[in-house]
Amino acid sequence: MHECVRPRVPASQELPMIGFGSKRTHDSRAVVTGAGSGIGEAFALELAKRGGSVVCSDIDVRTAQATADRITEAGGKAVALACDVSSLEQVTALAQDAQEWFGGVPTLVVNNAGVGAGGQLVGETPWADWEWTLGINLYGVIHGCHTFVPMMREAGQGGVINVASAAAFSAAPRMAQYNVSKAGVMALSETLSAELAGSGVGVTVLCPTFVKTNILTGGRITSASTELAAKLMAFGMSPERVARTTLNTHDRGGLYVMPQLDAKAVWAAKRHTPRTYTRGVGLLDRFTSLGA
Ligand code: NAD
Repeated sequence: MHECVRPRVPASQELPMIGFGSKRTHDSRAVVTGAGSGIGEAFALELAKRGGSVVCSDIDVRTAQATADRITEAGGKAVALACDVSSLEQVTALAQDAQEWFGGVPTLVVNNAGVGAGGQLVGETPWADWEWTLGINLYGVIHGCHTFVPMMREAGQGGVINVASAAAFSAAPRMAQYNVSKAGVMALSETLSAELAGSGVGVTVLCPTFVKTNILTGGRITSASTELAAKLMAFGMSPERVARTTLNTHDRGGLYVMPQLDAKAVWAAKRHTPRTYTRGVGLLDRFTSLGA
């Protein structure tokens, strides 16, 4: 039976760099959502650097185009496609267009697009905010998995990277809709990982803590992000720490999680103090310069 538990490993254990599953990346056909900024942009650039062909997708197609241009100017292969991940229809169209452009089934989908939200207590959060956050952060990832996984499973190979957050394990007040959306992504990824065992399709879930991107510093789409950044600072995060690259992962059966997070998140939640976990990790080193 497939074991589907959150790995708990000693904090001292050496953690691997972020990989893209065990799959080769030099010939990957990757679709990255939210590729116009921050983590998605870094994913797209890194995958292209490793020789992959990349569909850079974003609700803001101009930013996706800018990422694709950076890749093609450097000699890589990329195209920009507009897609609002909260729409199943648009994600379905994205998959079809990507398949056409690649001339084959995508081998990797990075369900990364997301928005920051917060600032109000559960009972005071406007319903539209719940729908906005869950629609993008949770349904957006569900749409991506629902659409891309069957084609990869049929092809007998592929990789799914879902970007959750340390918030998946957090009880930080006034961030319920964000916490809930990311906990949903975590549960979805674990379930998917169990379902896909032995299928040739790997599932990875990333749980970043604070990475200085537009989501924290007040981006174009994330209307609530300035407030969120202020809130994080109010929790005691120094701007320098918010700006620092913080993410670690542990590979266990194709599922990447932050192994020490559970205990620390409980600790943090008890004190209403989000913590950062700094561990310089390959791809993410570049984030220190993003949004600066
Ligand atoms: P960002 O704001 O820099 O980038 C998010 C991108 O998603 C933007 O290009 C935006 O246009 C796009 N986007 C927003 N709504 C969309 C939609 N409906 N459809 C398609 N694209 C949409 O933020 P980021 O920090 O790079 O965030 C990427 C992911 O990482 C998000 O899921 C976020 O929740 C997660 N995350 C970020 C942090 C952090 O500290 N930055 C921490 C934990 C998790």
